[in-house]
Amino acid sequence: MSQRVISFHYTLTNTRGETLDSSRGDHPLSFLEGAGQIIPGLETHLRTMQSGDKRKVHVKAADAYGPRDDSLVLEVERQKLPNKAVKVGDQFRTNQYPTPLTVTRLTDTHATLDANHPLAGQDLLFEVEITEVRAATAEELAHGHVHGPGGHHH
Ligand code: ZN
Repeated sequence: MSQRVISFHYTLTNTRGETLDSSRGDHPLSFLEGAGQIIPGLETHLRTMQSGDKRKVHVKAADAYGPRDDSLVLEVERQKLPNKAVKVGDQFRTNQYPTPLTVTRLTDTHATLDANHPLAGQDLLFEVEITEVRAATAEELAHGHVHGPGGHHH
């Protein structure tokens, strides 16, 4: 089966009804089918939809960013942080972890850092609208990503 490029608008809320992210007012998000570019629990639904379709999708944590892993929470001495003026909620990247570390707690001497994805362990609610479905170009397939609005520019 040839791979397709699917473009969609989305609004993401958590189970408390708080909006976490939205593509509204910006380009729709585009992804290459089967390339693992969006969370599996959402892609499964989008692949069955046509241009113009709207749907509310409830993605369980396991099909979104996975469960929280307490072993990814670490306490370090503040003086070892790259930036001394950190605040709770700050994020920074290291080579050790694939996701940014989030500062979750600070004492005078120590900082608690969480390498879990900020949405790990959470069910996610997506309100989605498909804006376009088209065949991927040979170049996109070769690169493994989408070109044009909502994708790569290069
Ligand atoms: Zn490319």
